[in-house]
Amino acid sequence: MATEATQAVTIKGTSGEGNEVATQGLFHFVEYDQSDRMKRAVMAWVISWGLAIASLPLIIAHWLLVPGFLIAGPFMARRYYRTSTSAKKISGLCPVCGQECAIKLEGNDTLPMWTYCSPSRDPLHVIALEDEKEVKVGHGD
Ligand SMILES: [Zn+2]
Repeated sequence: MATEATQAVTIKGTSGEGNEVATQGLFHFVEYDQSDRMKRAVMAWVISWGLAIASLPLIIAHWLLVPGFLIAGPFMARRYYRTSTSAKKISGLCPVCGQECAIKLEGNDTLPMWTYCSPSRDPLHVIALEDEKEVKVGHGD
């Protein structure tokens, strides 16, 4: 079963005075177990081959589309089968402007990452909390 999970992250930015500022936030993601990954893989394969069949009546384009979708099917299935987590969003207070922000993510986004705060587009660096212990930060609180 797909389960929603969160991971503590540090959100870093640079204040107007040029100082590094940081807050704590949460990285939200979905975890897929073995049966979910298999279901998603089968679904991707079925959709890809379904598109191959659907593109049969397209004159000229079918010479490219049909083999393309036929080949893509197993590759897409493999990719979905290997995907055990899917990123959803990052939530927390922006260290630069202090506003609550929810940053939407693509499913394949991973930490650490550079992004922007949603209300005021401040550049932010998001790091998993356990990774940060190795990277020493000179801003204590
Ligand atoms: Zn901000």
